[in-house]
Amino acid sequence: MQQTDLLIIGGGAAGLAAAVMAGRQYAGRRILLLEKTSRVGKKLLATGNGTCNISHRGASVGNYHGDGQPTVAALLAAFPPERAQAFFRSVGVETVVREDDRIYPLCASAAAVLDCLRIAASAVAELRCDCAALSLHPDASGVTVKTTAGDIRAARVIVAVGGAASPSCGGSADGYRLLTDLGHTRTPLFPSVVQLRADTRYIRAVKGLRVDGTVTIRHNGRPLASQTGEILFTEYGLSGPAVMQISRVVGEWERRQNGRMTAELDLLPDRDDEALLSLLRDRRNHLSATPAEDFLTGLFQRRIGQTVVRMAESIPFDRLAGTLTDAELQRLVNAAKHWTVDLTGTQGFGGAQVTAGGLSMTEFDGSLSSRRYPRIAAVGEVLNVDGDCGGYNLQWAWSSASAAVGAWGGDRL
Ligand SMILES: Cc1cc2nc3c(=O)[nH]c(=O)nc-3n(C[C@H](O)[C@H](O)[C@H](O)COP(=O)(O)OP(=O)(O)OC[C@H]3O[C@@H](n4cnc5c(N)ncnc54)[C@H](O)[C@@H]3O)c2cc1C
Repeated sequence: MQQTDLLIIGGGAAGLAAAVMAGRQYAGRRILLLEKTSRVGKKLLATGNGTCNISHRGASVGNYHGDGQPTVAALLAAFPPERAQAFFRSVGVETVVREDDRIYPLCASAAAVLDCLRIAASAVAELRCDCAALSLHPDASGVTVKTTAGDIRAARVIVAVGGAASPSCGGSADGYRLLTDLGHTRTPLFPSVVQLRADTRYIRAVKGLRVDGTVTIRHNGRPLASQTGEILFTEYGLSGPAVMQISRVVGEWERRQNGRMTAELDLLPDRDDEALLSLLRDRRNHLSATPAEDFLTGLFQRRIGQTVVRMAESIPFDRLAGTLTDAELQRLVNAAKHWTVDLTGTQGFGGAQVTAGGLSMTEFDGSLSSRRYPRIAAVGEVLNVDGDCGGYNLQWAWSSASAAVGAWGGDRL
């Protein structure tokens, strides 16, 4: 049976970082990393649309969800975004903090981030692809791991198998089993940072268009989350950064579907209702001979303007703008600033960037070792910790990897 001092299961963001950190901290120890697919870091390659939003300046516990808030706060304090930047610099990746505080590689390339991590990890650890861990068997002196390529014995194991989101990048719910088979609890999983399915009655007509607006998600009329930014209309409903950012509440609701979930779209967040009404009155004067069909073209993209007119109901496209009444203008204002769309769910794990839920943090100590089996730790997305969109999830991968490596202490088999 092959023997190693540290076995890392999963060659994603957290696993690769753990390998580099462990190799540097405990020189001379044997470190083996297993990756079930044919190459490490598939999901990392897809991050930030290929630009890799590595972290977020000022990331704090308020940007995270799950059942491990005190531990998340402590681990972020111990390994904050500045330390992530220093870590990346040490492997060759220069970083830049953008205006919105998101941290990216200067070269804006997820592939380069992966290359640097892989090269640094290979220098201190053996990376073995096409090898999946199947089950863990801990005892007093170590852990025997059954894999698709035979058994491996290790003094310590770090489980870094990721979550269920984005199966096309290797996401799967299988990894949780490594620990639930040992009695650990997995909380319910649901997709986060995900596109939303909606009633497409009006959306269909504006499919493919983007607007800078505000989206507010409401449950039975009560606002749950709101975000201003780019909204993308699609054939199934809504996407775009603003929508994905606050999609978690819909993922959570989707399992139960109790009550009505809606998205209210404000297509002109910079103007209040009164200011828009006054603008429309003005347009009614100087565009009096324009048919209603094009009354809003130029204020919005044409198809969006026409959809707003349709939503205002009972305004025929051939009516001349000069004949529109104040009540009709008010209906246009309502349609443009309070466009209410019924939500039906999310695009599921297939479209999701992040998995909400996971291995309960209550069963891991402050450095992410299992309270049941202290020779086993878990890091990254497999835990019940999920961050908002904006670099927070990768920051968790780095912070959690650092904690688990520190707790290892370098003991040998
Ligand atoms: C399209 C997309 C864009 C994203 N963009 C960003 C972004 O810009 N910023 C950000 O912060 N977050 C982003 N995320 C989220 C971020 O990528 C994840 O949170 C992060 O990769 C999780 O790291 P991890 O190491 O826990 O899991 P992963 O990176 O998913 O790695 C887990 C690895 O374990 C392997 N594995 C699984 N089971 C086994 C097994 N039994 N044996 C061996 N290996 C196994 C998997 O194949 C995988 O390679 C994005 C996600 C997606 C899908």
